[in-house]
Amino acid sequence: MQTAEEKLAVLEGADAALVTSSGMAATTTALFGLLRPGDEVVCSAAIYGGTLHVIKDFLDRFGVSARFPAIAEWSAPERLIGPRTRVVWFESPINPTLRCVDVRRVAAACRERGVTSAIDDTFASPINQQPIALGIDLVMHSATKYLNGHSDVTAGALVGSAAIIDNLQAARKLFGGILEPASAYALARGMKTLAVRIARHNENAMRLAAWLEADGRISRVYYPGLPSHPDHEIARSQMRGFGGMVCFDVGGGYARACQVYDRFQIIKRAASLGGTESICSLPVLTSQYGLNDEQLAAAGVTRSMIRLSVGLEDVEDLIADLDQALA
Ligand SMILES: *Cc1c(COP(=O)(O)O)cnc(C)c1O
Repeated sequence: MQTAEEKLAVLEGADAALVTSSGMAATTTALFGLLRPGDEVVCSAAIYGGTLHVIKDFLDRFGVSARFPAIAEWSAPERLIGPRTRVVWFESPINPTLRCVDVRRVAAACRERGVTSAIDDTFASPINQQPIALGIDLVMHSATKYLNGHSDVTAGALVGSAAIIDNLQAARKLFGGILEPASAYALARGMKTLAVRIARHNENAMRLAAWLEADGRISRVYYPGLPSHPDHEIARSQMRGFGGMVCFDVGGGYARACQVYDRFQIIKRAASLGGTESICSLPVLTSQYGLNDEQLAAAGVTRSMIRLSVGLEDVEDLIADLDQALA
Protein backbone atom coordinates (compact mmCIF):
# COMPACT_ATOMS: atom_id res chain seq x y z
CA MET A 1 0.00 0.00 0.00
CA GLN A 2 2.81 2.35 0.90
CA THR A 3 4.52 1.92 -2.48
CA ALA A 4 1.35 2.87 -4.35
CA GLU A 5 0.85 5.84 -2.03
CA GLU A 6 4.39 7.11 -2.47
CA LYS A 7 4.13 6.84 -6.25
CA LEU A 8 0.85 8.73 -6.24
CA ALA A 9 2.14 11.53 -4.02
CA VAL A 10 5.11 11.99 -6.36
CA LEU A 11 2.90 11.89 -9.47
CA GLU A 12 0.61 14.57 -8.09
CA GLY A 13 3.44 16.69 -6.66
CA ALA A 14 1.90 16.38 -3.19
CA ASP A 15 3.21 15.48 0.28
CA ALA A 16 1.16 12.37 0.81
CA ALA A 17 -1.52 10.03 -0.47
CA LEU A 18 -3.92 7.40 0.83
CA VAL A 19 -5.10 4.53 -1.31
CA THR A 20 -8.57 3.15 -0.64
CA SER A 21 -10.69 0.14 -1.55
CA SER A 22 -12.54 2.03 -4.31
CA GLY A 23 -13.05 5.50 -5.70
CA MET A 24 -16.23 5.74 -3.66
CA ALA A 25 -14.30 4.77 -0.52
CA ALA A 26 -11.93 7.67 -1.25
CA THR A 27 -14.89 10.04 -1.66
CA THR A 28 -16.69 8.92 1.50
CA THR A 29 -13.46 8.93 3.51
CA ALA A 30 -12.87 12.52 2.46
CA LEU A 31 -16.42 13.77 2.94
CA PHE A 32 -17.07 12.05 6.28
CA GLY A 33 -13.56 12.90 7.45
CA LEU A 34 -13.82 16.60 6.63
CA LEU A 35 -17.44 17.56 7.32
CA ARG A 36 -19.27 18.20 10.60
CA PRO A 37 -22.95 18.86 11.42
CA GLY A 38 -23.86 22.40 10.40
CA ASP A 39 -21.34 22.46 7.57
CA GLU A 40 -22.27 22.88 3.95
CA VAL A 41 -20.73 21.15 0.98
CA VAL A 42 -20.87 22.85 -2.42
CA CYS A 43 -20.77 20.17 -5.10
CA SER A 44 -20.98 20.54 -8.84
CA ALA A 45 -24.34 19.42 -10.24
CA ALA A 46 -22.39 17.70 -12.98
CA ILE A 47 -20.65 15.10 -10.83
CA TYR A 48 -20.16 11.35 -10.65
CA GLY A 49 -23.55 9.82 -9.72
CA GLY A 50 -22.27 7.97 -6.65
CA THR A 51 -20.86 11.18 -5.20
CA LEU A 52 -24.17 12.94 -5.75
CA HIS A 53 -26.03 10.17 -3.91
CA VAL A 54 -23.64 10.14 -0.94
CA ILE A 55 -24.10 13.87 -0.48
CA LYS A 56 -27.84 13.95 -1.13
CA ASP A 57 -28.94 10.74 0.57
CA PHE A 58 -26.45 10.29 3.42
CA LEU A 59 -24.65 13.48 4.46
CA ASP A 60 -28.04 15.09 4.90
CA ARG A 61 -28.80 12.62 7.73
CA PHE A 62 -25.80 13.91 9.64
CA GLY A 63 -26.74 17.56 9.47
CA VAL A 64 -24.55 18.47 6.52
CA SER A 65 -26.33 20.61 3.95
CA ALA A 66 -25.46 20.78 0.28
CA ARG A 67 -25.83 22.96 -2.77
CA PHE A 68 -25.32 21.75 -6.35
CA PRO A 69 -24.45 24.65 -8.65
CA ALA A 70 -24.92 24.05 -12.36
CA ILE A 71 -21.91 24.03 -14.64
CA ALA A 72 -22.43 27.64 -15.81
CA GLU A 73 -22.16 28.92 -12.21
CA TRP A 74 -18.61 27.57 -11.83
CA SER A 75 -17.23 30.38 -13.96
CA ALA A 76 -17.61 32.63 -10.88
CA PRO A 77 -16.66 30.26 -8.03
CA GLU A 78 -16.28 33.16 -5.53
CA ARG A 79 -20.08 33.42 -5.55
CA LEU A 80 -20.59 29.76 -4.74
CA ILE A 81 -19.06 29.90 -1.27
CA GLY A 82 -21.36 30.70 1.63
CA PRO A 83 -20.74 31.32 5.36
CA ARG A 84 -21.09 27.63 6.26
CA THR A 85 -19.30 26.14 3.28
CA ARG A 86 -16.50 23.84 4.42
CA VAL A 87 -15.84 21.77 1.30
CA VAL A 88 -16.12 22.51 -2.42
CA TRP A 89 -16.19 19.34 -4.55
CA PHE A 90 -16.03 19.25 -8.34
CA GLU A 91 -14.72 17.46 -11.42
CA SER A 92 -12.82 18.61 -14.48
CA PRO A 93 -13.13 17.30 -17.16
CA ILE A 94 -16.73 16.35 -16.40
CA ASN A 95 -18.46 13.17 -17.52
CA PRO A 96 -19.72 12.78 -20.27
CA THR A 97 -19.53 16.22 -21.94
CA LEU A 98 -15.87 16.78 -20.94
CA ARG A 99 -16.76 20.30 -19.83
CA CYS A 100 -13.86 21.82 -17.86
CA VAL A 101 -13.84 24.12 -14.86
CA ASP A 102 -11.11 26.73 -14.28
CA VAL A 103 -9.31 24.80 -11.53
CA ARG A 104 -7.00 27.68 -10.50
CA ARG A 105 -9.96 29.96 -10.00
CA VAL A 106 -11.91 27.51 -7.84
CA ALA A 107 -8.78 26.80 -5.80
CA ALA A 108 -8.07 30.51 -5.25
CA ALA A 109 -11.67 31.28 -4.23
CA CYS A 110 -11.59 28.44 -1.69
CA ARG A 111 -8.20 29.37 -0.31
CA GLU A 112 -9.26 32.97 0.26
CA ARG A 113 -12.24 31.83 2.32
CA GLY A 114 -10.50 29.02 4.19
CA VAL A 115 -12.62 26.37 2.46
CA THR A 116 -11.21 22.96 1.45
CA SER A 117 -11.19 22.48 -2.32
CA ALA A 118 -11.46 18.92 -3.59
CA ILE A 119 -11.36 17.69 -7.17
CA ASP A 120 -12.26 14.32 -8.63
CA ASP A 121 -9.37 14.04 -11.09
CA THR A 122 -10.21 10.55 -12.37
CA PHE A 123 -10.75 11.53 -16.02
CA ALA A 124 -7.53 13.54 -16.36
CA SER A 125 -5.05 11.38 -14.41
CA PRO A 126 -2.00 13.07 -12.89
CA ILE A 127 -0.20 12.84 -16.22
CA ASN A 128 -2.62 15.25 -17.87
CA GLN A 129 -3.50 17.48 -14.93
CA GLN A 130 -1.88 18.21 -11.57
CA PRO A 131 -4.45 20.01 -9.43
CA ILE A 132 -2.15 20.46 -6.41
CA ALA A 133 0.09 22.72 -8.50
CA LEU A 134 -3.06 24.66 -9.48
CA GLY A 135 -3.79 25.28 -5.78
CA ILE A 136 -6.28 22.49 -4.97
CA ASP A 137 -6.18 21.06 -1.43
CA LEU A 138 -7.35 17.50 -2.04
CA VAL A 139 -7.28 15.31 -5.15
CA MET A 140 -9.47 12.23 -5.40
CA HIS A 141 -9.10 9.40 -7.93
CA SER A 142 -11.01 6.32 -8.86
CA ALA A 143 -7.84 4.24 -9.30
CA THR A 144 -10.13 1.60 -10.82
CA LYS A 145 -9.76 3.62 -14.04
CA TYR A 146 -6.52 5.07 -15.50
CA LEU A 147 -4.22 4.69 -12.48
CA ASN A 148 -4.49 0.90 -12.43
CA GLY A 149 -5.37 0.95 -16.10
CA HIS A 150 -6.18 -2.71 -16.73
CA SER A 151 -9.82 -2.96 -15.62
CA ASP A 152 -8.95 -5.62 -13.05
CA VAL A 153 -8.72 -3.73 -9.76
CA THR A 154 -11.14 -1.63 -7.73
CA ALA A 155 -9.30 1.09 -5.84
CA GLY A 156 -9.29 4.77 -5.06
CA ALA A 157 -6.95 7.47 -3.83
CA LEU A 158 -6.76 10.76 -1.97
CA VAL A 159 -3.75 13.02 -2.43
CA GLY A 160 -2.84 16.25 -0.66
CA SER A 161 -0.80 17.97 2.02
CA ALA A 162 0.58 15.97 4.95
CA ALA A 163 -1.89 17.76 7.24
CA ILE A 164 -5.02 16.91 5.27
CA ILE A 165 -3.96 13.32 4.55
CA ASP A 166 -3.01 12.68 8.21
CA ASN A 167 -6.39 14.01 9.18
CA LEU A 168 -8.16 11.50 6.89
CA GLN A 169 -6.18 8.39 7.92
CA ALA A 170 -8.53 7.46 10.74
CA ALA A 171 -11.67 7.84 8.61
CA ARG A 172 -10.21 5.55 5.96
CA LYS A 173 -9.35 2.85 8.50
CA LEU A 174 -12.48 3.05 10.62
CA PHE A 175 -14.99 3.22 7.76
CA GLY A 176 -13.40 0.14 6.19
CA GLY A 177 -11.86 1.80 3.19
CA ILE A 178 -8.43 0.13 3.41
CA LEU A 179 -7.16 -1.34 0.14
CA GLU A 180 -6.24 -5.01 0.38
CA PRO A 181 -2.60 -5.91 -0.43
CA ALA A 182 -3.00 -7.76 -3.77
CA SER A 183 -4.89 -4.82 -5.27
CA ALA A 184 -2.36 -2.34 -3.88
CA TYR A 185 0.38 -4.38 -5.56
CA ALA A 186 -1.51 -4.44 -8.87
CA LEU A 187 -2.15 -0.70 -8.63
CA ALA A 188 1.54 0.08 -8.04
CA ARG A 189 2.43 -2.13 -11.01
CA GLY A 190 -0.21 -0.50 -13.21
CA MET A 191 1.19 2.93 -12.41
CA LYS A 192 4.60 1.94 -13.82
CA THR A 193 3.12 2.33 -17.31
CA LEU A 194 0.79 5.24 -16.56
CA ALA A 195 2.76 7.85 -18.46
CA VAL A 196 3.10 5.78 -21.65
CA ARG A 197 -0.50 4.61 -21.49
CA ILE A 198 -1.83 8.14 -21.06
CA ALA A 199 0.31 9.41 -23.94
CA ARG A 200 -1.29 6.78 -26.19
CA HIS A 201 -4.81 7.39 -24.80
CA ASN A 202 -4.37 11.11 -25.54
CA GLU A 203 -3.07 10.47 -29.04
CA ASN A 204 -5.74 7.92 -29.99
CA ALA A 205 -8.55 10.03 -28.53
CA MET A 206 -7.40 13.15 -30.39
CA ARG A 207 -7.27 11.21 -33.68
CA LEU A 208 -10.71 9.69 -33.13
CA ALA A 209 -12.28 12.98 -32.06
CA ALA A 210 -10.90 14.77 -35.12
CA TRP A 211 -12.07 11.92 -37.37
CA LEU A 212 -15.57 11.99 -35.86
CA GLU A 213 -15.82 15.76 -36.16
CA ALA A 214 -14.95 15.58 -39.84
CA ASP A 215 -17.52 12.83 -40.44
CA GLY A 216 -20.92 14.03 -41.67
CA ARG A 217 -22.94 11.22 -40.06
CA ILE A 218 -22.84 12.48 -36.49
CA SER A 219 -24.18 15.71 -35.04
CA ARG A 220 -21.55 16.70 -32.47
CA VAL A 221 -18.27 15.65 -30.85
CA TYR A 222 -17.20 16.58 -27.32
CA TYR A 223 -13.45 16.46 -26.74
CA PRO A 224 -11.54 19.19 -24.86
CA GLY A 225 -8.65 18.89 -27.32
CA LEU A 226 -10.84 20.11 -30.20
CA PRO A 227 -10.98 23.88 -30.71
CA SER A 228 -14.77 23.48 -31.10
CA HIS A 229 -15.14 22.35 -27.47
CA PRO A 230 -16.60 25.15 -25.29
CA ASP A 231 -13.81 24.77 -22.72
CA HIS A 232 -10.88 24.16 -25.04
CA GLU A 233 -9.03 27.27 -23.81
CA ILE A 234 -9.53 26.41 -20.15
CA ALA A 235 -8.38 22.84 -20.80
CA ARG A 236 -5.28 24.11 -22.62
CA SER A 237 -4.40 26.38 -19.73
CA GLN A 238 -4.47 23.63 -17.11
CA MET A 239 -3.94 20.26 -18.84
CA ARG A 240 -0.88 18.79 -20.52
CA GLY A 241 -2.97 16.34 -22.53
CA PHE A 242 -6.69 16.13 -23.15
CA GLY A 243 -7.28 12.55 -22.05
CA GLY A 244 -8.79 9.40 -23.46
CA MET A 245 -12.50 10.16 -23.10
CA VAL A 246 -14.49 11.22 -26.15
CA CYS A 247 -18.23 11.73 -26.34
CA PHE A 248 -20.27 12.10 -29.51
CA ASP A 249 -23.87 12.67 -30.39
CA VAL A 250 -25.13 10.61 -33.30
CA GLY A 251 -28.38 12.58 -33.58
CA GLY A 252 -31.60 10.75 -34.36
CA GLY A 253 -32.47 10.03 -30.74
CA TYR A 254 -32.02 7.01 -28.53
CA ALA A 255 -32.89 4.51 -31.27
CA ARG A 256 -30.04 5.69 -33.48
CA ALA A 257 -27.58 5.66 -30.54
CA CYS A 258 -28.57 2.05 -29.76
CA GLN A 259 -28.17 1.07 -33.39
CA VAL A 260 -24.62 2.42 -33.59
CA TYR A 261 -23.74 1.09 -30.14
CA ASP A 262 -24.90 -2.43 -30.97
CA ARG A 263 -22.75 -2.54 -34.10
CA PHE A 264 -19.35 -2.01 -32.47
CA GLN A 265 -17.04 -4.97 -32.93
CA ILE A 266 -13.68 -3.90 -31.53
CA ILE A 267 -14.95 -1.25 -29.14
CA LYS A 268 -16.51 -3.12 -26.23
CA ARG A 269 -19.86 -2.30 -24.74
CA ALA A 270 -19.28 -2.05 -21.02
CA ALA A 271 -19.33 0.23 -18.02
CA SER A 272 -16.21 1.80 -16.51
CA LEU A 273 -13.33 3.48 -18.35
CA GLY A 274 -9.59 3.98 -18.40
CA GLY A 275 -8.49 0.47 -19.35
CA THR A 276 -6.31 -0.75 -22.20
CA GLU A 277 -9.34 -1.72 -24.30
CA SER A 278 -11.71 0.78 -25.87
CA ILE A 279 -15.14 0.64 -24.31
CA CYS A 280 -18.30 2.57 -24.96
CA SER A 281 -21.44 3.31 -23.02
CA LEU A 282 -24.64 5.28 -23.46
CA PRO A 283 -24.76 7.96 -20.74
CA VAL A 284 -28.57 7.64 -20.47
CA LEU A 285 -28.13 3.98 -19.50
CA THR A 286 -25.22 4.54 -17.11
CA SER A 287 -24.12 7.81 -15.49
CA GLN A 288 -27.40 9.65 -16.29
CA TYR A 289 -29.74 6.67 -15.89
CA GLY A 290 -33.29 7.50 -14.92
CA LEU A 291 -33.01 11.27 -15.40
CA ASN A 292 -35.94 13.11 -16.98
CA ASP A 293 -35.58 15.45 -19.96
CA GLU A 294 -35.09 18.51 -17.79
CA GLN A 295 -32.38 16.86 -15.68
CA LEU A 296 -30.68 15.57 -18.82
CA ALA A 297 -30.68 19.07 -20.28
CA ALA A 298 -29.13 20.42 -17.06
CA ALA A 299 -26.33 17.85 -17.36
CA GLY A 300 -25.94 18.69 -21.06
CA VAL A 301 -26.71 15.08 -21.94
CA THR A 302 -28.85 13.82 -24.83
CA ARG A 303 -30.38 10.41 -25.53
CA SER A 304 -28.30 10.08 -28.66
CA MET A 305 -24.88 10.42 -26.99
CA ILE A 306 -22.24 7.72 -26.98
CA ARG A 307 -19.29 7.92 -24.62
CA LEU A 308 -16.02 6.31 -25.60
CA SER A 309 -13.12 5.41 -23.35
CA VAL A 310 -10.49 5.25 -26.07
CA GLY A 311 -8.04 2.43 -25.44
CA LEU A 312 -4.55 1.59 -26.60
CA GLU A 313 -5.44 -0.28 -29.80
CA ASP A 314 -4.15 0.69 -33.22
CA VAL A 315 -6.15 3.83 -33.93
CA GLU A 316 -6.80 2.77 -37.53
CA ASP A 317 -8.68 -0.28 -36.21
CA LEU A 318 -10.77 1.95 -33.96
CA ILE A 319 -11.57 4.32 -36.80
CA ALA A 320 -12.57 1.36 -39.00
CA ASP A 321 -14.86 0.10 -36.22
CA LEU A 322 -16.53 3.50 -35.83
CA ASP A 323 -16.85 3.80 -39.59
CA GLN A 324 -18.64 0.47 -40.00
CA ALA A 325 -20.84 1.11 -36.92
CA LEU A 326 -22.01 4.44 -38.35
CA ALA A 327 -22.65 2.97 -41.81
C1 LIG B 1 -15.64 5.41 -11.45
C2 LIG B 1 -15.64 6.78 -10.91
C3 LIG B 1 -15.80 7.03 -9.53
C4 LIG B 1 -16.06 5.90 -8.54
O1 LIG B 1 -14.98 5.04 -8.46
P1 LIG B 1 -15.09 3.48 -8.06
O2 LIG B 1 -13.66 3.06 -8.06
O3 LIG B 1 -15.90 2.80 -9.11
O4 LIG B 1 -15.73 3.43 -6.72
C5 LIG B 1 -15.75 8.33 -9.10
N1 LIG B 1 -15.56 9.35 -9.97
C6 LIG B 1 -15.41 9.16 -11.29
C7 LIG B 1 -15.21 10.33 -12.19
C8 LIG B 1 -15.45 7.87 -11.81
O5 LIG B 1 -15.30 7.68 -13.13
